[in-house]
Amino acid sequence: MQIHKQEVQGVRDHYSIKGDVMGGIFGVISKDDCVNELYYGTDYLSHLGTKRGGMAVNGENGFSRSIHNLENAYFRSKFEPDLDKFSGKAGIGCISDTDEQPLIIGSHLGHFGIVTVGKIANMTELLEDAFTNRQTFSEMSGSEINQTELVARLISNEESFAAGLKKAQELIKGSCTILLLTNKGIYAARDRLGRTPILIGKRDGAYAASSESSAFPNLGFELNRCLGPNEIARFTAEGIEQIQPPGEKMQVCSFLWVYYGYPASDYENINVEDVRYRCGNKLAANDDVEVDFVSGIPDSGIGHAIGYANYRKLPYRRAFVKYTPTWPRSFMPQNQKVRDLVARMKLIPIKALIKNKSICFCEDSIVRGTQLQDNVQILFDYGAKEIHMRPACPVLIHPCEFLNFSTSRSTLDLAGRKAIKALDGKEDNHLVDYAAPGSERNLAMVEFIRNRLGLTSLKFQRLDDLVDAIGLPKEKLCTHCWDCSSYY
Ligand code: SF4
Repeated sequence: MQIHKQEVQGVRDHYSIKGDVMGGIFGVISKDDCVNELYYGTDYLSHLGTKRGGMAVNGENGFSRSIHNLENAYFRSKFEPDLDKFSGKAGIGCISDTDEQPLIIGSHLGHFGIVTVGKIANMTELLEDAFTNRQTFSEMSGSEINQTELVARLISNEESFAAGLKKAQELIKGSCTILLLTNKGIYAARDRLGRTPILIGKRDGAYAASSESSAFPNLGFELNRCLGPNEIARFTAEGIEQIQPPGEKMQVCSFLWVYYGYPASDYENINVEDVRYRCGNKLAANDDVEVDFVSGIPDSGIGHAIGYANYRKLPYRRAFVKYTPTWPRSFMPQNQKVRDLVARMKLIPIKALIKNKSICFCEDSIVRGTQLQDNVQILFDYGAKEIHMRPACPVLIHPCEFLNFSTSRSTLDLAGRKAIKALDGKEDNHLVDYAAPGSERNLAMVEFIRNRLGLTSLKFQRLDDLVDAIGLPKEKLCTHCWDCSSYY
């Protein structure tokens, strides 16, 4: 019997759908036991997520798995007691903001483990198809369907893992990078347009795949290469086999370099910290503000600020230091007010450096601006004479549709859109003009934000300078946050 469209619609309305906010994935396969490398490798992705961590190992007695809530704890402290129960030569792990992962799936292809990172923008349609075919989903948390389970379903509908991964890449819009743990090795499939990276590491007798290459050096792996967009590879302890070559088109997320990537990582052979220095250089080249010193808002603002200070030959000083020993990186309460409070508690101003000084700050970006507003107030309370802010990217005008990027939850959360609404009566008027650097509307929007944050001056990075600083051709970068130019 056919299920009619209205019934499917009812099902669709009933379930809310979740996607990963960001997250990171790690996999390793070795001639020896891999558990320690998996544990430390996944731990090295902790900055990419806030809610859950998971590990799965394929050993002599089959698959074993652990998932823990990381909302108020470190990955290592949660997983250390589990290590004894794991043994095996191949494993995958993840840091996830929403989905419970890894999943262990029984299928006609054989048992497999799966982790994913990204956001399936067309999840509604894919679920509609699945429900029309009377498929069921078991990995529910509240009323939400687990995106990774849907991907596992797309894969196991096909005749082989390779065909399943190709099909998943073909069907998924948005982004989805996947690691599959099977009895014949680990498959790594990068998102069709390469929005999130997956790097391959190699050492004697082992291969690893990771969202961050910074996970490799201390585990003895050398960066072998970055999978291209849409590329699929299968690796074993002996070698790596390409299953599908990379596609021509790429839309890798620019924010990786600006904000959430780890400084020691390279994506597309371009190092994060180096890009931040170049972003700071570009900001400095367009600036002549007179200040006593330059400072960065920790963490990612520091690289931008060092680049700025070096270019203008100004002293770099730490006006804020970060207190991390008792605040796990992942502690991210749902309540925005509590989140702001935690962010504030982590940053400690150094009064002796701030008093009577004019300071130029570099920040990775201004998303909502509320936290920055608090920091600026603290600086003036501590006797700062002038505070000049230089964000390393342009004003964010469009929320992320591809990664469900955590810092841009809704359009009106964005400081840029709030300014446009205040100036124009509607938050979506004249967006192209507002985004054009130096246009009358752009200057009015920046002035509105400056005034709201209580800054002495505010100057944003130009998009062409940001693209230059990254060093990839513009058409290979996703810059949708700023110019709505990307595609699925
Ligand atoms: S919209 Fe922004 S955060 Fe999302 S993938 Fe593109 S550049 Fe990255």
